[in-house]
Amino acid sequence: MSTMKSSQTVYYGPKADLNMYPKVGSVSANEQVKVVLKEVANGNTWAYIEYNVTGSTQKKRGYVLASTVSITENVTTYNTSKQTRYVRTASSTYLGPDANKYPVAGSVSLGEEVSWVCSVREGAYVLIEYDISGGQKKRAYIDANCLGTSAPEMASGRYIQGGKINSAGDYWHITNQWNGNNNANTNGHLAIDVVRKNSSGTSLSGKEVYAIADGTVVDRGSQKANGNYVIIRHSTAAGKIYYSLYYHLKESYNKTSVKKNEAIGIMGNTGSSSVGEHLHLGITKNQPAGGYYGYYYVNGVKTRFSGETYVDNQNNRFYNPTKYFTQGESIINNNY
Ligand SMILES: [Zn+2]
Repeated sequence: MSTMKSSQTVYYGPKADLNMYPKVGSVSANEQVKVVLKEVANGNTWAYIEYNVTGSTQKKRGYVLASTVSITENVTTYNTSKQTRYVRTASSTYLGPDANKYPVAGSVSLGEEVSWVCSVREGAYVLIEYDISGGQKKRAYIDANCLGTSAPEMASGRYIQGGKINSAGDYWHITNQWNGNNNANTNGHLAIDVVRKNSSGTSLSGKEVYAIADGTVVDRGSQKANGNYVIIRHSTAAGKIYYSLYYHLKESYNKTSVKKNEAIGIMGNTGSSSVGEHLHLGITKNQPAGGYYGYYYVNGVKTRFSGETYVDNQNNRFYNPTKYFTQGESIINNNY
């Protein structure tokens, strides 16, 4: 066991900043704790400790600065690394790798995108980081069987939250996922492709495409690669600016300002689309980046990247629109 040098607040993540990770609890000076791992994050080395919960047989795990602990365990020091996973079974999360021995930390919902932290796994449980309200994050354990490497299809194969569907039973189906790769030579895709299907699962053609949020149409035209396109500018209550991009349209409507779910054109197969009729939906921050995948250069070098966002050398930030489709418009307002 290790010993606390001083009393400390214990956090849900490796940053002593309540704006990022909330408080798990606290430990006292000279308290015996178990150091589970060490992690280098935000310029500091953190100890992920396990400690007893007063008045309970349960224990909690959380982060304190490693310098505040007299560490006796010989544990590996990780550099922060995360891998994207999707919640395929809604579940509680726990303050340690066992649903009975550790308190509930919170919960994650079906379709939610989470990060698997540092490849940490104990038995069936993995340590994940996920968004909570107020722009904060938590790290906690979940049964790995609840996660997958691709987003689950919602409500019997239907992505329904991201757009208005006029006909009962119609839904949007994602045919090509965001993959965090901007290299066109390796099928990079900084967007999602969606098709419209009816209740029988048959793809529908010639259907309208809708604005994902209120906004202003800032560009509309035709390009060799993108085909007929529309770009909408969205501003949030917090003053952030986002753009949604709709490509390969059969035709676009001539509009200036649009409301969420207002039709902006008809789904098509124009431009360099090679997979049949679909909507290519992209979301970017700050600028309506023209290159939605591939052909982005950093200092003259084609650059491959990973993760849920990517910032190119012109400060265009690309976002994974899957979040929008699985979590609804609150994503635009709160998370991006
Ligand atoms: Zn696409």
